[in-house]
Amino acid sequence: MRSILIFALAASVYAETLEDRSLRYLIALLKLDTSNPPGNETRVARYIESEFAKEGIASEVIGGDPNRLNVIARLKGDGSKRPLLIMAHSDVVPAEPKLWTVPAFEALRRDGFIYGRGAVDTKALLAAEMAVLVELKQRGTKLNRDIIFLSEADEEAGSTEIQWLIRNAWSKIDAEFALNEAGARMLTDVGTDVFQIQTSEKVPTRVILVARGSAGHGSLPRKDNAVAHLSDAISKLVKAYMPVHLNTTTRRYFREMAKLDEYKWLGPYLPRMENSKTLFEAANELGDKDPELDAQLRTTVSPTMLRAGMKVNVIPNQAEAQIDVRRLPGETKEEVYARFKKLINDPLVDVLPEPGQDMPATEPSSLTTDLYKAMERVFNATGKKVAVIPYMSRGATDGAFLRAKGMAVYGVPVFKRDNKPGRAHGNDERIKESTLREGTALLRKVVEEIAAAR
Ligand SMILES: [Zn+2]
Repeated sequence: MRSILIFALAASVYAETLEDRSLRYLIALLKLDTSNPPGNETRVARYIESEFAKEGIASEVIGGDPNRLNVIARLKGDGSKRPLLIMAHSDVVPAEPKLWTVPAFEALRRDGFIYGRGAVDTKALLAAEMAVLVELKQRGTKLNRDIIFLSEADEEAGSTEIQWLIRNAWSKIDAEFALNEAGARMLTDVGTDVFQIQTSEKVPTRVILVARGSAGHGSLPRKDNAVAHLSDAISKLVKAYMPVHLNTTTRRYFREMAKLDEYKWLGPYLPRMENSKTLFEAANELGDKDPELDAQLRTTVSPTMLRAGMKVNVIPNQAEAQIDVRRLPGETKEEVYARFKKLINDPLVDVLPEPGQDMPATEPSSLTTDLYKAMERVFNATGKKVAVIPYMSRGATDGAFLRAKGMAVYGVPVFKRDNKPGRAHGNDERIKESTLREGTALLRKVVEEIAAAR
């Protein structure tokens, strides 16, 4: 009788399912405000440390700033293969309470959704990775490789911590490949389940244009008016068709996209895009139709900020524009600045790099690694109308720093987007509870497919 009672108690301790655990973690994580700046990610680090400790998983809380610590934990495998890294950042972008209709840090649950800053970017992934690690530990799953868990601080505003980790703790996170944020799963209008695996990313390359002319009274127009020269320069950049380059990821991306019903129209472009003589013209035509596809083909230019003048009747001697340039990883900054200078072709306008953050430019991660193939198998098995497509994200992640070290990094597309446009970085950020559950179960399958010993 007594032993039955003990057995029942023990069973109830482990009654929490993988999916319930992921939900519990996400709710706790969303309540920890890690708006960056200032971050305060140590809150999350300590929470993860204590949850892992309850499960007998040792973790290390380390970093370059006591308020902004990272967490590393490792499940040991039999060592026959090199480790798998599962990573997610612990900071979030700030939330503007006036623009939210719900609290941003209370993990409010309503109509099947959980609301909170970071619900999409990227505490859902963090919660799912924690839950999967605990699941493997509880079940005593035999692993053919170590699984390293990493929650890193400061992804959203500087990537200082991933750089600190690479410099100071490389042996603790070094792995054959990594699963990271920025994968995208979505349902097309005709019901194809599209899994976009992020294998590459564009490189933020901020540029400042500075036009200089002579100051004077607005009543006497001047040919060297700085405002006029600046606007000419901006307009030349925006109107120009930038050079087109395909890499292993984008080449496959276009081929796979053309198989989707909604993108059948891409079919005739493919042979023209394979031919270097017709690539540019074909790219310009299809880019004009679809800016998202255009951004896969070339370095893009978005003017975002202007500064000039104090008074309507005074001609300023200087005018400035900030340009958000997203560079193809195969191009150097110097090539981009040189091209802009040539396009603008105006001695009164300087093209200057914005000082500060410098992200590495890296080759796309391979489409033939065991991990990429494992994801293809797992995602293809989820249904009949499935497409698995590699893609280059327009946004940057900490993954770039690991790719620069030679690690293959993949944005894993486990969470279905519940709406378009997405709410990452937007107001009322939220995720469907069913999406979290389904995504966590899928992540577990991916991790087991690549790391469970057979
Ligand atoms: Zn993110």
